[in-house]
Amino acid sequence: MAEKPRIVIVGAGFGGMKLAELLAKEDVSVTIIDRHNFTLFQPLLYQVSTSMLSTDEIAYPIRAAFRKYPNVELFMAKAQGVDQERKVVLTNHGEVPYDYVVLAAGATTNFFGMKNLEEHCFAMKSLQEALHIRNHVLHMFERAEKHQDDEEMRRRMLTFVIVGGGPTGIEEAGAIVELIGIQKKELHNLDFSEVSVKLIEATPHVLPMMAENLREYAVNVLKKKGVDVMLSTQVVDYDGDNLKLKDGTVIPTRTVIWAAGVKAVPFIANCGGEVDRAGRIIVEENLLAKGSDSLFAIGDCASFCHGTERPLPTVAPVATQGAEVAYRNIMKKIRGDENLESFHYVDHGAMATIGRGEAVVNKTSLNPQLTGFIAWCAWMFVHLARLTSTHTKLTVAIKWGWNLLSGIRLGRIITNIKLGEE
Ligand SMILES: Cc1cc2nc3c(=O)[nH]c(=O)nc-3n(C[C@H](O)[C@H](O)[C@H](O)COP(=O)(O)OP(=O)(O)OC[C@H]3O[C@@H](n4cnc5c(N)ncnc54)[C@H](O)[C@@H]3O)c2cc1C
Repeated sequence: MAEKPRIVIVGAGFGGMKLAELLAKEDVSVTIIDRHNFTLFQPLLYQVSTSMLSTDEIAYPIRAAFRKYPNVELFMAKAQGVDQERKVVLTNHGEVPYDYVVLAAGATTNFFGMKNLEEHCFAMKSLQEALHIRNHVLHMFERAEKHQDDEEMRRRMLTFVIVGGGPTGIEEAGAIVELIGIQKKELHNLDFSEVSVKLIEATPHVLPMMAENLREYAVNVLKKKGVDVMLSTQVVDYDGDNLKLKDGTVIPTRTVIWAAGVKAVPFIANCGGEVDRAGRIIVEENLLAKGSDSLFAIGDCASFCHGTERPLPTVAPVATQGAEVAYRNIMKKIRGDENLESFHYVDHGAMATIGRGEAVVNKTSLNPQLTGFIAWCAWMFVHLARLTSTHTKLTVAIKWGWNLLSGIRLGRIITNIKLGEE
C-alpha cells in the first residue's frame, strides 16, 4: 500500500489548528510541530495578565483536539528552519520529513530594534508572558504597600504604562484599571491616588482599523475610567525604572507593557523563502511561498499582498481563512490538480473591549457599528463562540457573568515564587 501523503504543519495556533482539523478527515498523515503542547487563544491573553481568566481557560491541549484522529500527531519541538531541497523541517529535536509543509508559526513582539525596550518591557504574545505580567503587577501592589516612607518608589511601582493603542493596548489598559479597582478594596494601607495607568500611542489615533467616531469613543471611555491616554507620543528608551519619551519627558515606572508591534517568529528567515520587512514569508495568491511547490504559509507569519495596498493584517480570521484555502490547495495537489485556488480575505470587521461592559464594534457590511454594553455583549458572544471546548465556554461565561454582577476577580494569584523561597 502506498504511504499516505505527509503534511507537516508548523504551529498550532488559529491557522494551524483549523488546517489540521480539515486535513484530519482526509486520507493523509498530519504532523503538527509546535513548541508547546497546547493551542492558545491569544485574544484573551490580556485577561490572564489581569487575573480575570486562568491559563487553562485560554489554552487547550493539542492532543485532546485530535483524540479521535490517529492520522494526526503532535511533534512537540521548536522548529528552526526548513530544508526545501531535502523536504525536511529542522527542529531542536531532529528532522521531520514532509511532502507538503505549511508554516503557521505566527508572530512575536517587535521592539523595532530598541534593545533596552526589549530587555525591560513586558511583552504579551505567550501564556508565559501574560503570567509574567500578572505576577509582576500583583507584586508591585504588595511591594508598594511596604514602602510607606518612600513616596517616589511607591509611585514608580504604582505607575503602569501600556505602549500601543491597538486593540491589545486598549483592552489591557481597561482591564488593569478594573484590577486596580479590586485591589483598592483590599489594600487598606495604600493611597490609590498614587496609582496611575498610562496608554501611550505614537500616532494621533488609537484603534487604527476602526472608524473615527469609535476611536474617539474608546479614548473617552478610557479617560473616564482614569487612564491617561497619551497620543502622538513616542517612546525612545527604558531602563526598567524610567521610561523616556521623544520630547524628553521621563516617566518613572517599573511596568511597561509593550503592545506596539509584531514581526514573524525568527525561524521563518531559515525556511528558504523571500521575507518582507516584518520577517514574514512572501506568498503567492495560492499561499505557496514564492518559487516553491510544496511550502505554504498562512496567518501572521505569511506576507500576502495581492490586490491589497499593504500585507493582510495579523488577525485570527486571516489565519483561519488562509487555512481553508491552503487545505483545498494541498488536496488539489495530492490529486494532481495544479489549478490552485487564490486566497481572497473577507474582512468581517473588528471589535475591542474597554473593560467590563464596554466595547466598540466596527461597522461591516453585515453588522452595524456598536458601542457600550451591546457591543460588549457582541464581543463576549463572539469570543465565547471561538473558544475551543464546551467546558471552557461554560466556565468562561460563568466567570464573566459573575464578574459583571459582583466585580469579583479571584485569579489574583502570584505564582512565580521559586521553590525554597516561599
Ligand atoms: C494579546 C493579543 C490579542 C489579540 N487580539 C486579537 C483579536 O481580538 N482579534 C483577532 O482577530 N486577532 C487578535 N490577535 C491576533 C491573533 O491572535 C493572531 O493574528 C493569530 O493568533 C494568528 O494566528 P496564526 O495561526 O498565524 O499564529 P498563532 O495563533 O500565533 O500560532 C502560532 C503557533 O506557532 C507556534 N510556534 C511559533 N514558533 C514556533 C517554532 N519555532 N516552533 C514550533 N512552534 C512554533 C506557537 O507556539 C503557536 O502555537 C491578538 C494577538 C495578541 C497577541
